Order: sequence, then C-alpha cells, then structure tokens
Amino acid sequence: MPGARSRVLSDDAARAPVAGVIGSPIAHSRSPAIFGAAFASEGIDWHYFPFEVGEGDGAAAVEAMRTLGLRGLSVTMPLKVEVIDAVDRCSAGAEALGAVNCIAWEGDELVGHNTDGDGFVDSLRWRGIDPAGGRAVVVGAGGAARSISEALGRAGSPEVVVVNRSLERAERAAALAGTNGRVGTEADIVGAELVFNATSVGMAGTEAAGELPIDPARLHRGQVVADIVYVPLVTPLLEAASAAGALTLDGLGMLTGQAAQAFTLWTGRDAPIAIMEAAARQTLDR
Ligand code: NDP
Repeated sequence: MPGARSRVLSDDAARAPVAGVIGSPIAHSRSPAIFGAAFASEGIDWHYFPFEVGEGDGAAAVEAMRTLGLRGLSVTMPLKVEVIDAVDRCSAGAEALGAVNCIAWEGDELVGHNTDGDGFVDSLRWRGIDPAGGRAVVVGAGGAARSISEALGRAGSPEVVVVNRSLERAERAAALAGTNGRVGTEADIVGAELVFNATSVGMAGTEAAGELPIDPARLHRGQVVADIVYVPLVTPLLEAASAAGALTLDGLGMLTGQAAQAFTLWTGRDAPIAIMEAAARQTLDR
C-alpha cells in the first residue's frame, strides 16, 4: 500500500529515534561515541547503533531504514558505492564522487550525501585556514582524497594539485576539483601553502606504518600540513612537518567535520563541534 507508507514517511514525528552506521567490520567504529555525545549534549533523545552489514546487503539496509523510519544512517566500507542505487537520489557531491557516506531524509525521500570532503574543509576553517587562500597539494587519490579534491574545488581553491602513486587515479581525483585541479609531482609541494596527506601511509597496523608519504625535505615554515590519518594522531608526516616549522593539523578534524555535517543533515541543527571532537579524541585515547 504505497499511499499509506508515504504518509508515515513524510511524518517526521513518526520516525524512530534511532540512527546508526552500516558497514563491515563495524565493531570498532568511533561513530557511536561521537554521535552519542552529540545527541546527549543537545538534549536529543536518539540512539545510535553500529549495524554489521556486509558487501551486497547495502540496499537491504537502506530499505530497512525506509521501513523502520530510522532517522539517519552513516555508511562506511564496503557499502559506500552500492547504497547509491538504493537511495532516492544523491547530492551533487555524492553523485560526482560516486560514493555515499551519509543518508538523510528530505521529506519522504532518502538522499545520499558525501560529507567527507566538506567536513575536511570545515575543519580547516575552524582553525582559521581559508581553503581559497592558498595553493593545495593533495597527496593520494583514493576515496578520501577524491572527496577532499572535490570539496576544495567547490570551496574556491586557486589550485588543487593531486600527487599519487598511480597516475590514473590521480587524474580522476584532479578532475573532480574542476578547472583548478591538475596532476602534479612531489616537487609541487615546495610551492604549496597547503599540503594534505590523504593516503593511508603512516597509518598504524598497515605495511606503511611509521612511513612518510612524501620527502619531508619539501616541507617548510609558512605551510599548513594536514594528515587525515588519525591512528596515530601524530603521524611521522606531522612530526616532520612540525620540525620543519609548518603548522600541523591532525586527522581528528576530518573525523569530526564529516560527522558534524551528518548531524546537521539529520537534525537540522548546528553540530556541537567541540563535544564531538572531544568524544572522537577519547575514542583514540582508548
Ligand atoms: P583508499 O584505499 O581509497 O586510498 C588509499 C590511498 O593511499 C591511495 O591514494 C593509495 O595510492 C595510497 N597509498 C596506499 N599505500 C601507499 C603506499 N605504500 N605508498 C604510496 N601511496 C599509498 O583509502 P581511503 O581514501 O578511504 O583512506 C585513506 C586514509 O585516510 C586511510 O588511512 C583512512 O583511515 C583515512 N581516512 C581518514 C578519515 C578521517 O576522517 N580523518 C576519513 C577517511 C579516510 P594508489 O592510488 O596508488 O593505490
């Protein structure tokens, strides 16, 4: 009975006070702690759960969101691409990226968003850094790097240079930044004001743990160097950048920024950023 279903879905009050994150593995997701703290601080009586959903079951999970009237879903690996076909439509950013990390209601429609890039750009602005104020080098061309390049392009970055091990992926990421995007080499880092590591190099528990994604000799005073890797929080790149006199930003900013954007999409309210960042930091201290 489609008519009856739409009546329930368009009635916001009829939805369950439940949100969550879908993906696999999900047990160690930091999102429940971050959103739990945000809802509590804003007096929102919602609960946020991790849902273990494996590859191939993304569409069924979105259908469950629809049927149960869940308030919002975060989407993580390996479902970011497959849920696209299950939502009613995607935001322009998610469409361009071909990846969704957040699903929100708009009326009785489920809309897929990608909050990673805008969350990263927000986190720069919180620290007084204008993404339109300097040339940027994005190291990496995976999912996170693509979202950052796309968001930097929209934020008015004068130049987005993508440097990556695989050239083909670099070209795709640079194109997402629009006319100011191009593929470059490590040599471009010297002339950049903003340097962002969006590779997984330096991440604990991987083959490249303890390594740097670039030659640190290219870093210098006057630059802002951000790493999106957040385990460890102070990566070898950030240590080297500090030693070179650059201003450093850790991966907590993007982690908080993307969640803050989701909070606002679901609740229509400004996110309690400091509370969310503190909750994220606590999960990293554990
Ligand atoms: P992907 O697997 O999509 O991309 C990985 C990127 O790292 C690619 O550019 C890849 O290069 C590069 N890379 C991996 N290993 C090496 C290496 N040994 N040498 C050089 N380049 C390498 O991952 P994601 O984009 O999803 O995530 C990247 C990192 O960002 C992860 O550590 C993730 O935890 C972190 N992240 C942090 C977020 C936050 O909120 N702070 C949000 C999302 C991600 P190539 O294309 O050549 O393979």
